[in-house]
Amino acid sequence: MHRHLARLVTVLAALVALVASPLTSVSPAKAADQWNPPANLVQPLGEVWNHVSTTYPDLYGFRNYGWDQVMANRGSINYCVRWESDAPVSTDLRDRIHAALKKQFGKWTAAMVDNGTGHNAWPYTSVPVNIVGWAVKNRSTLQWTDNSVDIYTGLDEGGAPQCAPDCGRFFHQDGNYSRCPGGAARHYDQSLWLTKGFQGGAGGDWGQRVGQEYFTGALSQENIHIYLHEVGHTFGLDDFYDWTPTGQCCFLMKAGSAAQITEFDKWMYRDFWRHLKSRYGL
Ligand SMILES: [Zn+2]
Repeated sequence: MHRHLARLVTVLAALVALVASPLTSVSPAKAADQWNPPANLVQPLGEVWNHVSTTYPDLYGFRNYGWDQVMANRGSINYCVRWESDAPVSTDLRDRIHAALKKQFGKWTAAMVDNGTGHNAWPYTSVPVNIVGWAVKNRSTLQWTDNSVDIYTGLDEGGAPQCAPDCGRFFHQDGNYSRCPGGAARHYDQSLWLTKGFQGGAGGDWGQRVGQEYFTGALSQENIHIYLHEVGHTFGLDDFYDWTPTGQCCFLMKAGSAAQITEFDKWMYRDFWRHLKSRYGL
């Protein structure tokens, strides 16, 4: 369940200018700053942000949170799957993995929208997830013949299948994918790393890693909760190994205490964006 955010040099790609009409009676800026969590969550949310502010080494300097990735793409996310297993993948299994990934990732991004309006000026009512590639050691492990995704058979330094670094956001935070064979359209922001025999999970700006058997065994579950927890880390959320916010016994980011995104998780997630959004002029 470890959080691991890697720091690489990055360049702010875009600034959004807001222009308020002098005729509007309600200032867009005021509406955007609206913050109305349930009364019983105000104190624990404040504790969480205080903890994050005092323990993250580069909270505001880091620019590759999931938030930054969605903003750079103008509202979508691209994935590459690293299949670190010799279990064969049929076309049907591939498609079920894609569908589960989209559904589960979407549970987080849906938490930013109420009645068609984004919390704190969050600009996207939906965030489409595209799976653009698969990495595998032996091509024959993947049983499909269509070319709907790019297939990579290169290995990383540890000998694990790796999607091409030339196409990865982690390696190109300036958004320059000119050396990616498919160009920017086939770049990937995150890796879903499915490793045979892997216990627990890991997550960060690079993506998420869980056990291959766990993920494929959980495809029909409403909540693939280890994956969901790790996506929380991708968007900057912390672990709670050694403390608990006031009044909150059980929530997804406190590993082992909940198996779905809770109301408290949603508000922590919204709060993270609230504190980051000014970097986008929002
Ligand atoms: Zn964790």
